[in-house]
Amino acid sequence: MTDFQQIIISWYRENKRELPWRDTKNPYKIWLSEIILQQTRVIQGLAYYEKFIRHYPTIEALADASEQEVLTDWQGLGYYSRARNLHATAKQINSEYNAIFPSDYESILKLKGIGEYTAAAIASFAFDLPHAVVDGNVFRVLSRVYNIDIPIDSTEGKKYYSVLANDLLDRANPAIYNQAIMEFGAMQCIPGKPNCGICPLVEYCISFKEQNIMDRPIKKGKTKVRNRYFLYLIFWNSTAKTFFLRKRTEKDIWQELYEFPLIEFESDEATMIFLNSQSNYLEPVSAAQKHILSHQHIYSRFAFVTNADLLNEFEDLIELSFEELGSYPLPRLIDRFIENNYSLFNS
Ligand code: SF4
Repeated sequence: MTDFQQIIISWYRENKRELPWRDTKNPYKIWLSEIILQQTRVIQGLAYYEKFIRHYPTIEALADASEQEVLTDWQGLGYYSRARNLHATAKQINSEYNAIFPSDYESILKLKGIGEYTAAAIASFAFDLPHAVVDGNVFRVLSRVYNIDIPIDSTEGKKYYSVLANDLLDRANPAIYNQAIMEFGAMQCIPGKPNCGICPLVEYCISFKEQNIMDRPIKKGKTKVRNRYFLYLIFWNSTAKTFFLRKRTEKDIWQELYEFPLIEFESDEATMIFLNSQSNYLEPVSAAQKHILSHQHIYSRFAFVTNADLLNEFEDLIELSFEELGSYPLPRLIDRFIENNYSLFNS
């Protein structure tokens, strides 16, 4: 074992967090945890992991569920394509592999929603195969220890880091080594203020010596953010105590989730002009609320509709009561609006 491997692994043994998916070699549970933890903090992911294991204890159970059930259980986690891929892949493993998770890296990588990082994680954690994981934590640790100035989001960078990570991998103990380097990046060599003062790698860390740890890793460019302006129309039937939702079927954010009928505008100013022109039919509820997604900022407004004729402008509306809402997956933006404004529906 090299010094690097030894230091990382013994740090891990002393400092690791106890997490349920670390006590198992079950590839289904490991896969589930990895998909949930993409773009999600461990503390939030934990509750979802436990819920999914409870509701879908096996691949067959997940494959047999409806997409609507899976999306409803996923509600609040965001990045819903992860849930759709999870479900589609469970069906694929169920039918093509007899519900047995494939045990070689290439077959795992071919599954929907599984990229190189996730394939390496499943292959090493569940099957002890020697594939190095390279996630955000690993990029950060390696970029600092080796003072690498190649951007991590360039083709050259991705290749460079992948070769280096595989060179450093403890091939006899890939599961624990991979867990260890990721945990080291998550707990010790963190983005904001790494704990260099008590770091066991400090004498090997070139970036620490060069005093440029905050400039590592290097990224080429930031993704451009798109602003969108949503006006949600609430048709509230106060006699029947029902309202209308519509399923988002377009290839866009929140596909297959349900929301109030929506009109999208080019700007908040255009939304306001429309609202003012319809003041006889619409009662605005709130100022614009900003909802941040990874590549989009959504500025949303909500208005109660006082003229039911406007309903004819929308197709495929579903009429629902609050009691029925639980089986319809909603974007967090809608869920939060209903939660915060529940009293408006009863006034
Ligand atoms: S010395 Fe600091 S920057 Fe270097 S590996 Fe340790 S925590 Fe990270």
